[in-house]
Amino acid sequence: MLGQTMHRAMELLVAGGLSASDAWDQAVEEKDAGGDERAVRPGERRARLRFERQAPALSKLLEEIGAEEIHVEPRVTTADGLLTGRADLVAVTATGLVVVDHKSGTVRAGGHIQESHREQLLLYGAMASHAFGRAVEHLALISMAEGVVDVPFVDADIESAVAQAVTRLLAYNRIAPGSQPGDPGPENCRHCPHRARCDAFWSSVSEEWRTEIGVALRGRVLRVESSARGTTAVVMEEVTGNVERLDSCIVTELRLCREISPGETLALVGLQQSRAPVGSFKATERTVTSIG
Ligand code: SF4
Repeated sequence: MLGQTMHRAMELLVAGGLSASDAWDQAVEEKDAGGDERAVRPGERRARLRFERQAPALSKLLEEIGAEEIHVEPRVTTADGLLTGRADLVAVTATGLVVVDHKSGTVRAGGHIQESHREQLLLYGAMASHAFGRAVEHLALISMAEGVVDVPFVDADIESAVAQAVTRLLAYNRIAPGSQPGDPGPENCRHCPHRARCDAFWSSVSEEWRTEIGVALRGRVLRVESSARGTTAVVMEEVTGNVERLDSCIVTELRLCREISPGETLALVGLQQSRAPVGSFKATERTVTSIG
């Protein structure tokens, strides 16, 4: 449940320039603003200590490699579009790419890097290389239990990992053609691009998911107001989602892909709950929307 806080803290550390403790505090504060009312979540103190202990190693790695650009959770894909994902961190250097994947637990078993972690990182390497048009020069895992763990590789390892993953994917598609039933859950859905328009998501989403996905609301548009800053405020009724039952609510700071009219259905995932009044929410940079 603390995975998203850990990811956000890492983002604030490397891209926001905050100290480890400030990055953690801000990540927790953002979660609380998302509506989680618990003062301290189970395991939070331990997670914070681990983050503060391991953060300097990540900062040192980025300094040593001379990162010119740092991209946190960029969406990446292979050239044929068959494999897609979000790498935790991609650093662009003068000579190539450094791809880092974050793990909250241990990454070694019996003295060796776990094969599943290694394979995942090789795939992220392939996708990042396509996305950024640069060769991969360094792969690493940042484990909150073990620190920075370099993952040695040669180019053939990356090619082999992609070939094996595509073979498995095509075999799966042959056995299970067409659309498959959803497997909703906060871990599965939190990065899924379909979450705002996925019926399986809306029939399962609950208050327990708020830590991972924020506030999710779907309802009928009653009123629309535009601000001078280019954002939209929407009043909705017949609202469902992962909040206590509301007859109506207002959502501000929206940036919609098209104009919306009263009577249309609007679905929003990744909102923050405003402190007052009850039934007020605001969009964030992580909010995804679906209209109609
Ligand atoms: S949003 Fe729907 S399609 Fe996406 S992971 Fe969740 S259940 Fe699956």
